[in-house]
Amino acid sequence: MNDSKPHTLLVVEDEKLLLDLLAHHLEQEGYRIVTCMRGDEAIELARRERPDLCIFDVMLPGLDGLSICRILRRESDVPIILLTARAAEIDRVIGLDNGADDYVVKPFSLPELTARVRAALRRTPQRQSNRLNIGSIEVDMTGRRVFRDGTEVRLSHKEFELLAVLLRNRGAVLSREMLITQVWGFDFTGDVRTIDVHMRWLREKLEADPSHPAHLQTVRGVGYRVD
Ligand code: CA
Repeated sequence: MNDSKPHTLLVVEDEKLLLDLLAHHLEQEGYRIVTCMRGDEAIELARRERPDLCIFDVMLPGLDGLSICRILRRESDVPIILLTARAAEIDRVIGLDNGADDYVVKPFSLPELTARVRAALRRTPQRQSNRLNIGSIEVDMTGRRVFRDGTEVRLSHKEFELLAVLLRNRGAVLSREMLITQVWGFDFTGDVRTIDVHMRWLREKLEADPSHPAHLQTVRGVGYRVD
């Protein structure tokens, strides 16, 4: 099989000189590089570009590297390397369960960083499309695409997340509260019936007869299940 597609790396660093240096060096190493300088732009960029690995500086404007890690971890298992500036930061970086795979302390050498990148990519199983079928519905979990009778169905980010959580727990009943936590996060303050609304939308998009769903089941008084 010819797998010549270069790995995409997302590099987020607010020191312009360092960012340019990293991007240039990693490009020379054969990677495709996507960059930004603000933490709050990193999330959207990661969702859009689906990098094979992320490198985040810890101290960033907008959103710090640790918060980016936590947010991305809810939706992806992309390897993440953190760049920490000071010894004082290291305790926070390794002490917290932030989902990072590795960290590099500044100042670091470019070969050192490259070695860490290679090691992290090696640990990641080769990403293949991970497709699941439920009846005539096919879900590409890696590519985040959904097909019904072979035709692609467009889902919103939250709709896909909800479907993915149910699929990963196929056959199990998940409560609304559990689904809210998994899809919207612990800090969600809205109504748990948001789940019902999203389930209705999912059924309308995916079920042949949305009022008598074959797969997206309501378990009365408990929650939802995918069969
Ligand atoms: Ca910084």
